[in-house]
Amino acid sequence: MISQKMKQMVEQSAAMSAMFTEGKRLAAIYGAENVYDFGIGNPNVKAPASVNATAIEILQNMDSLKVHSYTDSSGIPAARKAIAESLNHRFGTNYDESNLVMTVGAAGGLNVILKVLLDAGDEVLTFAPYFGEYDNYVMNVGGVLHPVPPNPPDFLPDVDALSACITPKTKAIIINSPNNPTGVIYDAGTIEKIAAVLRQKSAEYGTDIYIIADEPYRELAYDGVEVPYIPNFYENTIVAYSFSKSLSLPGDRIGYLVIPSTVSDFAEVSMGAAIANRVLGFVNAPALQQMVVAKCCEETTDVAFYNANRELLYNALQEYGYSCAKPQGAFYLFVKALEDDDKAFCEKAKEYRLLVTPGSAFGCKGYVRISYCVARETIENSLPSFKALAESYKK
Ligand code: PLP
Repeated sequence: MISQKMKQMVEQSAAMSAMFTEGKRLAAIYGAENVYDFGIGNPNVKAPASVNATAIEILQNMDSLKVHSYTDSSGIPAARKAIAESLNHRFGTNYDESNLVMTVGAAGGLNVILKVLLDAGDEVLTFAPYFGEYDNYVMNVGGVLHPVPPNPPDFLPDVDALSACITPKTKAIIINSPNNPTGVIYDAGTIEKIAAVLRQKSAEYGTDIYIIADEPYRELAYDGVEVPYIPNFYENTIVAYSFSKSLSLPGDRIGYLVIPSTVSDFAEVSMGAAIANRVLGFVNAPALQQMVVAKCCEETTDVAFYNANRELLYNALQEYGYSCAKPQGAFYLFVKALEDDDKAFCEKAKEYRLLVTPGSAFGCKGYVRISYCVARETIENSLPSFKALAESYKK
């Protein structure tokens, strides 16, 4: 008999995987080229050539025993140092290898840091809409995720609503900017306000409230919009970064945590993160990938490709009568469903061979997420379907 917790997860996952297998079912009926799958966030840009070249060079020239051996639980010191220096150069920080822990993607990093910070019953906040896995990650360690209600239509955080959600049990807030699913980037003024509220509430309750900045989409920002570096605004910030989207390496499972020396109980938190990497069963981030990203951490993906997709889809959807905040980053559009029930709207969209994800999967009913990290032709070919879908609601 499986656990009650897992039973719950199995039920939720069944609904999600049904959605993903739907693409295959429709492709078998109509042909893959006639099904427009905007369901998942799998990058559609190849990793920069230097990534494969670096991996090949390492595999050909380094002692195989070294390449494939266990590393320190917190990662290879030289890799951590290279990334620390890159961050210092970009954000004016003063990190060294003691501030970095290599992780199994952002998902690994988030699970590690939640394991370090939470006792059973502790609360974690996040702004809705949010990446649905946060519920599971927090539940994994016995915590409780409390979403701060969504703030449509621009989906910038409502700082007063945040303030009302903080209790003496609030241990952390997960902030994800550029955001999945809205593509919104939180500007410096908003981050400053969030920081002020957290400082005020920490003082009021005599607690430490950490920001966990979940940043897999940091490099995906458009129109020259800057993504504020949150540790420069709030001393108690830990960053969970990933190369899944920035270098298109989602299957290689590589990322890192930045634990600045300014965070409360720095020594314990960073030691805890190394131990959590081990005891959660990751042991260490993949060794070869640590070496690769140490050399390629200043490379980026083809942002122009995603930007062209964004412009094409956003402008077309506007023209057809859909409404959505223009995303400044990531590769998602969060569009108002054309009926109240977002799941029913997704079902209706399937009749037009469009696969999109209901906003309720992100804690925000009445919207749908469209992932535009797809081939340009997929978007071009899907436009008549989006138009017909909109028209079907005007009848
Ligand atoms: N956080 C957010 C907001 C995401 O969208 C994702 C993946 O899509 C992750 C974390 C996990 O990313 P990774 O592949 O680095 O584990």
